[in-house]
Amino acid sequence: MKDTFGRTITYLRVSVTDRCDFRCTYCMAEDMTFLPRQDILSFEEMERICSAFINRGVTKIRLTGGEPLVRHGIMGLIEHLSRHLKTGALKELTLTTNGSQLQKYAQSLVDFGIKRINVSLDTLDSDRFTEITRHGKLEKVLAGLEAAKKAGLKIKINTVALKGQTDNELDDLLAFVADNGFDLTFIETMPLGEIGGSRVDNYLPLTEVRARIAKRWTITDTDYATGGPARFVDVKETGNRIGFITPLSHGFCESCNRMRLTCKGVLYMCLGQDGNVDLREIVRASESDEPLQAAIDNALNLKPKGHEFVIDDSHDGPALNRHMSVTGG
Ligand code: SAM
Ligand code: SF4
Repeated sequence: MKDTFGRTITYLRVSVTDRCDFRCTYCMAEDMTFLPRQDILSFEEMERICSAFINRGVTKIRLTGGEPLVRHGIMGLIEHLSRHLKTGALKELTLTTNGSQLQKYAQSLVDFGIKRINVSLDTLDSDRFTEITRHGKLEKVLAGLEAAKKAGLKIKINTVALKGQTDNELDDLLAFVADNGFDLTFIETMPLGEIGGSRVDNYLPLTEVRARIAKRWTITDTDYATGGPARFVDVKETGNRIGFITPLSHGFCESCNRMRLTCKGVLYMCLGQDGNVDLREIVRASESDEPLQAAIDNALNLKPKGHEFVIDDSHDGPALNRHMSVTGG
């Protein structure tokens, strides 16, 4: 699948639910209204859409949300999708999770062919963790990480850079990932959805994070690339690699290889733009895959050149009224 800018699409991210057991301050408002259940794609519908994409050349699927592991029956979807791993059509099935359910599911994920996961963890301080996530318990996530490590999953920690928080903990975070053999990627906050507070107050540019890390650790740029938006440095003292995802201070759209399916069946071509195609009614209206494939062609033509995020004093509101948990981070 090639879009009109010549980019090949091989990666589909699927938000399996907009619900979550946490309410991270940069992601959601405290009292969120979630979608009514009848609006959400069934697992059969999700699997049918995923298979249509795999038939068109998608080789990597990431399940995300909301929190993917809180949707009831999620392991059934993972088991079904894992059949495409066995045929070789799908090279990677993975997920992004807040880690709260990992103790329960880590071994099953491995049994279904998942090799790597991303776990979001913004702080190692348990009070601060509960403050940021509003409902989360750090100890549960740490136990989940331990279970995932024991089960043999390769783990990348995603940390959203927050002013007055992340900047005080950089050394601890670096030491933690090095001790555990995890990778680490920092992410800048993106202006997605109303969160009931200011984003400018919390925005910490990764240029600052990098400069602070460089004061204590020896870092060098590397050409290492995952096909995703992160840029990496090697850390001499620990021998591991740190990624930086800088949607605001550095564009990465020119190499974008992905599309995003929401739990409602809406296909977004860009995390930061509104262009979309509604696949739910198309799959519900016909058992034939022809209309679905035609809709995917249409979506390819709509993929924009890039997003236009800005956070500063004159742009403090959301760029889009869609939370990250709807489109899937
Ligand atoms: N609940 C899972 C989790 O937290 O990993 C998966 C969904 S979450 C929306 C995916 C990622 O998006 C997380 O790493 C989270 O920190 C990040 N995220 C959420 N809102 C964000 C925002 N406004 N800007 C930047 N990253 C955000
Ligand atoms: Fe939930 Fe993930 Fe959003 Fe936090 S970042 S509220 S864990 S969806």
